[in-house]
Amino acid sequence: MDDCLFCKICAGEIPSTVLYEDDEILAFRDIDPQAPLHFLVVPKNHVQSAAQLTMQDGALLGKIFATIARLCEEQGITNGYRVVTNVGQQGGQSVPHLHFHVLAGRQLAWPPG
Ligand code: AMP
Repeated sequence: MDDCLFCKICAGEIPSTVLYEDDEILAFRDIDPQAPLHFLVVPKNHVQSAAQLTMQDGALLGKIFATIARLCEEQGITNGYRVVTNVGQQGGQSVPHLHFHVLAGRQLAWPPG
């Protein structure tokens, strides 16, 4: 999508610190980290949010979660992590391109704010 920040990051038009990339997904560090480890995983194809996912996206989601587990292991995370996807305005979504936050490296509170 032309005017989408994360589409531009996926296309390499805006720089990011990439942790993993393949033809379908990109994992990169969040620019404003909320934990010692905070990265985002996005599908390269534009999907607005988790509300647009369908049964056909099952394999993509499996890849995303398997990649998250592998990256956390590679980053030395042995004590757990959190995966969050915000949906829509009240859900706290500021970038309308599906992304999974991965937060780790400190004790995370519950419930989130
Ligand atoms: P959300 O508020 O759930 O939509 O999350 C959007 C996330 O994108 C926030 O955590 C931002 O810090 C992050 N973000 C915004 N711009 C960039 C960027 N250029 N590179 C990396 N992360 C970004």
